[in-house]
Amino acid sequence: MSEILNASDIFGKNVFNEKVMRQRLPKDVFKKLKQTIEDGAELDPSIAGVVAHAMKEWAIDHGATHFTHWFQPLTGVTAEKHDAFISAPTPEGKVILEFSGKELIKGEPDASSFPSGGLRATFEARGYTSWDCTSPAFLREDSCGVTLCIPTAFYSYKGEALDQKTPLLRSMQAINDQSMRIVRLFGNTASKRVIPCVGPEQEYFLVDRDKYLQRKDLVYAGRTLFGAMPPKGQELEDHYFGAIRDRVGAYMKDLNIELWKLGVTARTQHNEAAPAQHELAPIYDEANLAVDHNQMTMETMKKVAYRHNMTCLLHEKPFAGVNGSGKHNNWSLTTDDGINLLSPGDTPHENVQFLLVLACILKAVDVHADLLRESAADVGNDHRLGANEAPPAIISVFLGEQLEDVIDQLCSNGEATHSKQGGTLKTGVATLPDLDQDATDRNRTSPFAFNGNKFEFRMVGASDSVAPSNVVLNTIVAEAFKEAADVLEQAEDFEAAVHDLIKNLLTEHRRIIFNGNGYSEAWVQEAEKRGLPNMKTMVDAIPALTTEKAVKLYEEFGVFTRAELESRAEIEYENYSKIINIEARTMIDMASKQIIPAVIKYTTQLANSLNAVKQACPEADSSVQAELLIETSALLSDMKVALAALTDAVAVCVKMESKAQALAYREKVVPAMEALRTPADKLEMIVDKELWPFPSYGDLMFEV
Ligand code: ADP
Ligand code: MG
Repeated sequence: MSEILNASDIFGKNVFNEKVMRQRLPKDVFKKLKQTIEDGAELDPSIAGVVAHAMKEWAIDHGATHFTHWFQPLTGVTAEKHDAFISAPTPEGKVILEFSGKELIKGEPDASSFPSGGLRATFEARGYTSWDCTSPAFLREDSCGVTLCIPTAFYSYKGEALDQKTPLLRSMQAINDQSMRIVRLFGNTASKRVIPCVGPEQEYFLVDRDKYLQRKDLVYAGRTLFGAMPPKGQELEDHYFGAIRDRVGAYMKDLNIELWKLGVTARTQHNEAAPAQHELAPIYDEANLAVDHNQMTMETMKKVAYRHNMTCLLHEKPFAGVNGSGKHNNWSLTTDDGINLLSPGDTPHENVQFLLVLACILKAVDVHADLLRESAADVGNDHRLGANEAPPAIISVFLGEQLEDVIDQLCSNGEATHSKQGGTLKTGVATLPDLDQDATDRNRTSPFAFNGNKFEFRMVGASDSVAPSNVVLNTIVAEAFKEAADVLEQAEDFEAAVHDLIKNLLTEHRRIIFNGNGYSEAWVQEAEKRGLPNMKTMVDAIPALTTEKAVKLYEEFGVFTRAELESRAEIEYENYSKIINIEARTMIDMASKQIIPAVIKYTTQLANSLNAVKQACPEADSSVQAELLIETSALLSDMKVALAALTDAVAVCVKMESKAQALAYREKVVPAMEALRTPADKLEMIVDKELWPFPSYGDLMFEV
């Protein structure tokens, strides 16, 4: 019999969580730390030494040899530098194991090689990491041994944020402050905090590692840059929620165990739409923890795949022609005593606080649609958004029938008197229970969909951090709440004022609501009529970061300074150019060293065969060889021309800088890459499989 797996025994085993802290910390220290973690009280630095000691003892008891400040620079991945716990040897040559409060609170990694977007000249190397006690320390077990990882924020010598966590924490403060004003207006005196909660659903692909290593595009770019469609793609929809294959099942089991140990609530797993594509969703958590856990999930996915001789691809579009991978960011606002501000109840038309919250969110999304779109911009996502597999690049909000009806009533009659109710779903089978039907169906084409008691932002790319999207959501909603609270706190007749405010907000921002098919061309035109922005690519979206509107918003709530925003825009332009450059150079490399030589071999074989047939039997029909030779040679010369054009385009772009460079990569290099790919993919369909230099789409997607 196989071993018995008990998730509750494993869960949180490697986390310095509340239970461990209670056991290992003196009572007063535990209390102080808990106040900071739960109530947002300022951290008392005098407790750091005691906490560090307890953390070290606990870590060593679990076999840890090193500690690291774990942080999220703007590279898209996490960073860490490990230090052993050992001190300098004593005169007898012995070391003791130590870890001070100072080492817990502050780290000083050399920041000069992390992106700073001009915030720091290269010679200014200092950067600091600072302990974030609201995200618990954890132990990571891997080939390095056991390492104590301390979640930290990362900033420059002058205190500018160089990471994802700092603005997220700032935005959480902003939404907390403004949400509290709203709940107090409605007579709530019990709740102490409002916390944004996030549940990110993570999609990914698994491919066999040996095959992966044969493809330079996957190795260097994380996606295929060439590749003809196999005879079967995802058209039968038989992979979605399909039975999970053994090899993948073993991977998922291991992945769950590793994640549970780290305190990540991995809960849902299933096959996704494309062959070899899967999804994992955790149980939602506070935004800061959810973001950290999502980073840990992505890292663990890659590590565990390696153990199974597979590679986990988190790229947004590993394969052309089948669905790419995204990350649905489920977001809600919940009080510390468990009240979800996004919960409409059974009769939303009577729930005035909910209607105000909803109206403010609609306003926030309408006014700052550009920022929300920008938060999901990454190079890989350019292949997904608007390509009928993910939402279009146009931001709109789906509310569903029930809420749309309430809004209709409010806007046209000034009053909402009823809420549509879901009926009972008759199964028509005596032995099956009838089900309660939700008042509203779902809409999978909407980028921002209301989903019962949360909004689901469906635009984020699979490889991207969810931090930026939540920074935007928290801050833009904080602004809308602030503007509402400013009015309502002064109102003489609260009932009348809130009623008017809701009606005005809904009327003014209704254009952002769209319940129809977001994949249709008609919507693109309708959205244009409504004046909604349609930013098709990452390069179009980046300027949203530095508009006067954005600077005012972020400075008002202390989330970003102008300089921080400008640096982020700069980093994104650079990032875009670098990635397209790598992709282009990888294509050039594969085309010239692998594909063209293989095709030449094939044409030589064809020519030899043609000659041989003609010699052996002049009357025999050798037209197939002749036609293939003509066709192949023509495609080969197309490839050569396209290769030269791509090489030239790259040579022009590398000399440029910043925004102009990113634009040039998009205008010149991206089309040149497509032009090179087209003849190559046609050739793949003709050339002898034995000669083709790397595994095909079919090999990668169907033979995991
Ligand atoms: P699906 O949308 O695929 O049907 P669920 O609705 O169960 O799946 O949840 C998807 C994700 O949303 C999960 O990570 C879940 O924990 C999270 N989620 C559920 N409720 C909330 C909430 N109130 N706030 C934020 N996230 C939530
Ligand atoms: Mg979902």
